[in-house]
Amino acid sequence: MKNFSNRMPRLGTENAFSVIGKAKKFEAEVLAPAGKKLIYLQIGEPGFDTPRNINDAAIKAINDNQTHYTPTAGIQILREAVAKSTNKYAPNDYTFEDVVITSGAKPIIFYMINALVDEGDEVIVPNPCFPIYGSVTEYLGGKVVPIKLTEENDFNFKIEELEKSITPKTKLLIINSPQNPTGGVFSKELLGQIAEVAIKNDLWVLSDEIYNEMVHEGEHVSLASFPGMAERTVILNGCSKTYAMTGYRVGWGVSKNKEMMKAIEQLACNDTSCVNASAQYAALEAVSGPQADVEMMLAEYKNRRDLLVKLVNEVPGMKCVAPKGAFYLMVNVREILNKLNITAEELCDRIMKEAHVLILPGTVFGHFGEDFVRFSYVSTQEMIIEGMQRIKAFLTKI
Ligand code: PMP
Repeated sequence: MKNFSNRMPRLGTENAFSVIGKAKKFEAEVLAPAGKKLIYLQIGEPGFDTPRNINDAAIKAINDNQTHYTPTAGIQILREAVAKSTNKYAPNDYTFEDVVITSGAKPIIFYMINALVDEGDEVIVPNPCFPIYGSVTEYLGGKVVPIKLTEENDFNFKIEELEKSITPKTKLLIINSPQNPTGGVFSKELLGQIAEVAIKNDLWVLSDEIYNEMVHEGEHVSLASFPGMAERTVILNGCSKTYAMTGYRVGWGVSKNKEMMKAIEQLACNDTSCVNASAQYAALEAVSGPQADVEMMLAEYKNRRDLLVKLVNEVPGMKCVAPKGAFYLMVNVREILNKLNITAEELCDRIMKEAHVLILPGTVFGHFGEDFVRFSYVSTQEMIIEGMQRIKAFLTKI
């Protein structure tokens, strides 16, 4: 067989998925025969069913024969609804023409980096972060320039760190607030400074705001809401997290930059043609229908966060501060790692095999995650209590 392309080996993946694969195998082969189960405290998706009215809208769309191609950028009525909802947190008079609907939010990462990055171009990415930003950049021959998110700063960074990372080759800055994996939320002050630096250095910005509704303290501020930013920023958002719709695969990009939105639409046309039509009608109901379920889910995430933070801080060697957003908790385990002389991966492996709880090593999200493990708090309070009891018992005896 002839070789794969030179770029293929540079493409990374979401290691969180391979960790789950390994865990399921361990559960099936080792635990199930002994009548035992793993507790999954690593899950990166909402712990609720999709609200009924949204599923009904999808079923109705199918029964109404909305089962054909739609325009690549999405059905106009959904693009209008997304423009309206985006104007609430980033008031820029967005219209449907500024919106492209995609199959989940992830393609916006792929398309925007594809539209911008040539061999050797640099992309600045705070770290630890969602691994796809770096994977796609490297696949396309670009260079990832990480800036460290620090725990003492609630996982914000110092603006000087950004300034000193910029070179003539820097093309794009990717930010994500509220963040996966840290739960950190960038302060308004930092976002204002980022906007100034982006304008001064003529940078494109991908602002991943997929967790914008999940802010437990304070409010979400969009980078695109600062003067001069709407034209250089693509907001990434979608239905997956807010409406518990990960399997529907509906997301979008929003920007006042017409050329960028045209490029994104063209890439989407080459890639998927359009998003599943009935899923677009479900998304329309999600965005423009009643929001009571979102409020209920949010309130429960906050309860689960408070419970998990309390229980984690009772475990010897684990410490964390309450994250302000998303549904993740980055826990510092440096003391345990030093005591046992192991890495975060080895610790998570032992916690899986000996305490039967699945959590993720911070390194799944990049080099600067090496002192951490990541929990999520989408599981029920019962699961959180049981999982933390198991972890505490295990770490107390070793
Ligand atoms: N950005 C971040 C930060 C995420 O955590 C995720 C999902 N885990 C996505 C983008 C992708 O969302 P979707 O499932 O809608 O493609």
